[in-house]
Amino acid sequence: MMNSIEVTVERMGLVSDRYRISLVVLCTTFLILCGVSYKHSIFDHFESVSKEQAFEGGGQNLGSTVQVNRDSEADKTCEGRGQNLTHKNLGSTVKAIADSEAVSKNFSFTNSAKDSSPLTRNHTTTDKLLLDGLIVSGSDKISCLSRFQSYLFRKASLYKPSRYLITKLRKYEDLHKRCGPHTRHYNKTMKELIRPRNKGHSSTLCKYMVWTPVNGLGNRMVSMASAFLYALLTDRVLMVDFRDEMTGLFCEPFPNSSWILPNDFSFRDGRRHFETYQNMLKKDRENSSRQVSSPLVLHLNLQHTSDNPEKFFHCDHSQDLLSNVPLLILSSDQYFVPSLFIVPSFSQELSKMFPERDTAFHHLGRYLFLPSNHVWGIISRFCQAYMAGKDQRIGLQIRTFPDLSAHQVKMDQILRCAIRNKVLPELELRDSMISPWKNQTKSVLVTSLYSYFGESLMTMYLTRPTVTGDIVGVYQPSHEEQQKFDDNMHNIKALTDIYLLSLCDVLVTSSTSSFGYVAQSLGGLKPWILLKLVDENIPDPPCVQDFSMEPCFHYPPKHDCMGKPLHKNGKAFPYTRACLDQTSGMKMVSDRE
Ligand code: GDP
Repeated sequence: MMNSIEVTVERMGLVSDRYRISLVVLCTTFLILCGVSYKHSIFDHFESVSKEQAFEGGGQNLGSTVQVNRDSEADKTCEGRGQNLTHKNLGSTVKAIADSEAVSKNFSFTNSAKDSSPLTRNHTTTDKLLLDGLIVSGSDKISCLSRFQSYLFRKASLYKPSRYLITKLRKYEDLHKRCGPHTRHYNKTMKELIRPRNKGHSSTLCKYMVWTPVNGLGNRMVSMASAFLYALLTDRVLMVDFRDEMTGLFCEPFPNSSWILPNDFSFRDGRRHFETYQNMLKKDRENSSRQVSSPLVLHLNLQHTSDNPEKFFHCDHSQDLLSNVPLLILSSDQYFVPSLFIVPSFSQELSKMFPERDTAFHHLGRYLFLPSNHVWGIISRFCQAYMAGKDQRIGLQIRTFPDLSAHQVKMDQILRCAIRNKVLPELELRDSMISPWKNQTKSVLVTSLYSYFGESLMTMYLTRPTVTGDIVGVYQPSHEEQQKFDDNMHNIKALTDIYLLSLCDVLVTSSTSSFGYVAQSLGGLKPWILLKLVDENIPDPPCVQDFSMEPCFHYPPKHDCMGKPLHKNGKAFPYTRACLDQTSGMKMVSDRE
């Protein structure tokens, strides 16, 4: 480890020869004394927690959280300095929200200095508690602590959901309660789909969309949010096929019902053969003069593939065909929300739902993706232990592939980006008299599959003071060493990292990574994006600041609805702009842009 640190520091030109020996000795001694070891991440302990404990321990967790918080007198919060919320308050919050919505009286909630921008809206505590109306006030509190505690851990959003969106969500919740898994309507519809009485004509009461997992967690979350928006627009009920690997990650988002695909669902992969969307389009083209009968169940593949035939999903005619299909099974790893904005028949509805077009994931994500009590326990404890009470929280999301030389270059790029843009303070190389006590404290959260980044950065900031005198603590919650599939604990760590990043004040993210997109969008942040290396060299500039918090839609349509090629990328569509990290991709932009 020392070698790599030495190399990194030397490459950065941050120390002169005369310091090197004392530097290594100092580091070694310090690390031994502190017993700091990244070989054991905070999660090693959790590996032994059985699934049952993990997912059924919500109530118990609550008890102990409340107890600990009530007992603690420490004035530390996870909202940064300037907040008067204490652990004690956090504990009483749980009780207060359980008692009444007049919870605001129990708090003295002051926004931090950083929160005083003119964009900041007036938020009452009840607004914050209910995420400005995204969350319905009567929801069950105990089964999903994050629903009502998340506002204690992050600054109030600068972006308010529209009244129209809130009305749509409440209507959707009613629909889901009526038609969701194992309701009378659901049972009747499934029976009808298995044995249709009237061949070719659907008389089902409710329509459904089943989301299925593709690729990593970030990809899954952006496609799930897109699927939910599609369900809102088309009055479909969304069910999610989480399998074992995603079980217990999230709370149920819709009150008094479940979005989990039932085990006895008859149309799971391979159980039955069904029509594909692409085939339906082909048949439709071949029979342009007469109407093609709609299938009852359809596989809608919106995944990016290498051949990537045009999907025409952004066209009204395709949407007309899809509207007649009672059950859609979706495979997608994409944030396809921008393609919904450009469907003419959806665009008016969407502009009412999202008058600020670049807030779609921000609102939908905060509504849908509430960490389960088990995951929330990890997030909130980590936050309180390592991020609370700091002047600034900085998140570095580092997505790389496992070649060591690339790691060193990447580390150099991160430092060049972060120091140039004053995200991280520079090291003081001369002997100086800077007193650390009067200066700022910064908590740097490093998320990466590899321990190298957290270790290197931590050592760097322990080894020398900063020019500003700021004290920098570096924390990396986990390092999985490789991306894993079908692994529940791996996904818990990924969600923890994503969520913790979203609680930061400033982010540096890796280009084209949906992992980073989800974090920035949940947090309402415009990150510094590390640009791709050019032939293993750091580009200049090493990073650029994003113009929007929205995820990038990597593969937008290339043809119009008549099949004519469109001019390059997003410019072909109104209110869109090419993504900075993938110029062939696009994002919605708001009128503010
Ligand atoms: P993308 O591939 O960068 O777009 O992001 P995805 O989230 O879709 O896929 C990457 C997957 O690799 C994640 O879901 C994790 O399983 C794993 N992974 C990558 N980076 C990290 C990290 O920083 N922390 C953790 N815990 N897992 C990561």
